[in-house]
Amino acid sequence: MIKVQEVQEWSEGLTIVTRWRIDHVVGSAAGVEVLHADSSMPGPRTVLIAGQHGDEAAGPLWLLALGQQLVELLLKVRVGALTVVRCANPEGFAAGRRWIKPDRYMASVQLQRQRLAANPEETRDPRTLDNELRLIHDMNRRWAAADRGVVEMALWDKFISNATQVVDLHVADTPDPAEQATLRYAGSYCAHAHALAETIREQSGLAQAGWRTLWSRPVGSLLVVCEEAGIAAVGVELPGYCPVDVPAPEWAVELYGPPSHGEWQGVQQRKLLLPEQQRAMPKIWQWILSQHA
Ligand SMILES: [Zn+2]
Repeated sequence: MIKVQEVQEWSEGLTIVTRWRIDHVVGSAAGVEVLHADSSMPGPRTVLIAGQHGDEAAGPLWLLALGQQLVELLLKVRVGALTVVRCANPEGFAAGRRWIKPDRYMASVQLQRQRLAANPEETRDPRTLDNELRLIHDMNRRWAAADRGVVEMALWDKFISNATQVVDLHVADTPDPAEQATLRYAGSYCAHAHALAETIREQSGLAQAGWRTLWSRPVGSLLVVCEEAGIAAVGVELPGYCPVDVPAPEWAVELYGPPSHGEWQGVQQRKLLLPEQQRAMPKIWQWILSQHA
């Protein structure tokens, strides 16, 4: 596994190239790497962002594994501009947790427990309180302008607000079969975000691999905020689970150990091992590059 620290050191070494500009933006103490290649020619302006949720490592790890090759590919951007954020939430990623600052999330949970213990007459549903904490500590619930963090602010102002299309990489985090291998859009049917999801599905080959489009509108998410700003945005949910009778490849089991299981409405689901989650990544990445060739 590539350490976040190593990646930051490596990205610090990037140089400014004339005509094709590669910028590095530090948006927080932890540092978030942003690779931006602008051809100065007309064309789509794409933002690919991965790893908002630190526990959904398949996308970031696949992109990080491209290493120096990623820069070489960005230098081949011939039309439009391509921005790649391989790991939007380095602290969460390093800790394997969903949250922006996992320590602060845990501190908030502790505080909440103490408050509940001190006020036994508290009538609010603990699940509602848990949900409130999620909204504070989940990067992909904080894109609404008022409570945007420093990283989100820098990404939005410099890159996303100028984009014509945004691809946001995730991994389906529940065993719900309807959530796996989906391209999400937050707008209305047949409008630009849905059209983008369908275009990616058809042109990348994901349609043949059984991927579907899905309407989804999580409050404060990048998808919703882009939709409101008129930017076509698609959320990729790499599959996290499959039916229990689909065996894991032997070589993957050797590398990652036996897979675990989850349950959805009484039906057992098998958790996909990392290479299985990443199976669609080359298709998605090739489609993105094809936009700028
Ligand atoms: Zn996610």
